[in-house]
Amino acid sequence: MKWVFLGLPGAGKGTQAKKLTANRDVEHVSTGDLLRAEVKSGSKLGKSAAQYMNRGELVPDDLVIAMVVKYISGMENYLLDGFPRTLEQAVALHEATEGNGVDRVFDFDLEEEEVVKRLGGRRVCRDCSAMFHVGFMPPKSEGVCDNCGGALMRRDDDHPDTIRNRTRIAREQAGPLLSFYSDKGLLTRIDAARPADVVQAEILSYLSDS
Ligand code: AMP
Repeated sequence: MKWVFLGLPGAGKGTQAKKLTANRDVEHVSTGDLLRAEVKSGSKLGKSAAQYMNRGELVPDDLVIAMVVKYISGMENYLLDGFPRTLEQAVALHEATEGNGVDRVFDFDLEEEEVVKRLGGRRVCRDCSAMFHVGFMPPKSEGVCDNCGGALMRRDDDHPDTIRNRTRIAREQAGPLLSFYSDKGLLTRIDAARPADVVQAEILSYLSDS
């Protein structure tokens, strides 16, 4: 299984990927998480990436492509969340894997206003990266992760101006990316405005024939 989740930030890709991979032999590969780990570690890549991430801009293709290609090399099953985000990244992945790097692509479709609402209220556990929402999916105890007791934080790039910047860039990049996968017959559209359990059930229905 080599799947890709596409869609605006906040459309639920991470939530769905975590649910899907929790009990399966599939690795959830989130480039956002990989890059945040690099930033935290203070590596050279992390230092370069941080300046783009804080502004809600994309990290340059060459840095991200090298990181992902190395990370997934030799992996049989993965779910890419947040990669590819540009046509260049999609082409690079296709070439690096000799056309065998992706067998299904889901496009999470959601209105921008809904994205802004979701991201503005999103809170993430500092320790285990579990996600909550102050309105739609609040933790049992305010500011505390239900899973591990870690502190819940607002991501640095989940602030209104940065959110607008991220969605604008994602929309600009989406067209060519969707055409690339649609032309290969790999694209499935998902209505991401529905409750998370309904979306998950639809995604699960594709497991058998992937
Ligand atoms: P995410 O957690 O997927 O929303 O990613 C957070 C940030 O990491 C993005 O706003 C970008 O700055 C950076 N990033 C993640 N994935 C990519 C990618 N495929 N290409 C470029 N930048 C990325």
